[in-house]
Amino acid sequence: MFRTILRALPLRCQLCHHTLENRRYPWCESCHESFPRVPRCLHCGLPAPYVTESCGRCLNNPPAWDRLICVGGYTFPYDKLLHRFKYQGQYWLAPALATLLAQEIDDPAAVILPVPMHWRRRIARGFNHSTVLANELAKQLGVQCESKVLKRNRATRQQQGLSRQFRLSNLREAFTMTGSLPERVALVDDVVTTGTTIAEICRLLRTRGVKHIDIYCLCRTPPK
Ligand SMILES: [Zn+2]
Ligand SMILES: [Zn+2]
Repeated sequence: MFRTILRALPLRCQLCHHTLENRRYPWCESCHESFPRVPRCLHCGLPAPYVTESCGRCLNNPPAWDRLICVGGYTFPYDKLLHRFKYQGQYWLAPALATLLAQEIDDPAAVILPVPMHWRRRIARGFNHSTVLANELAKQLGVQCESKVLKRNRATRQQQGLSRQFRLSNLREAFTMTGSLPERVALVDDVVTTGTTIAEICRLLRTRGVKHIDIYCLCRTPPK
């Protein structure tokens, strides 16, 4: 499957349009080397002066999850690649984006769960990008992807731009869970900003016996 997708990949770098010497990624090696990398807090995933288990923010106000692993912030080139993947139907970017993320994960959870999308929004968009990403990531990490355990009951309004109070009431009881899960799982999402949505899922998972929750996301960015 991966090979088939690779063969269908374009011959030019998708960022600078130079000819690709190899097709490991759909972008060239010099673009790849310039991808921004900053030290981050391993708990909230936000930039920190150096890699740390928990930053000052997390000590004061611990996130609902245990560890967050991301590729970078929502800045070039990740914003551009993600936009093409999500809104321009460039599904073939999924394996490469998953590879970037997989390289950051040393000790993956045995079960990973995509953040669910309400069926109405999924139909409107044609696919749930988190499920596509989680499936690809699970394949590369050799773990299990459970895309049907979590369900979004209501088509919650877009979280961005809502006040904190409104975001919380917007999400209350928005998710349900069926079946059982191991004590350690990981949630997969494309971008984590306020973290309100995944915090709500974490609360649900903990009431159902999950003890350790990792978050694997492509971009982690602070709220504006
Ligand atoms: Zn390039
Ligand atoms: Zn932190």
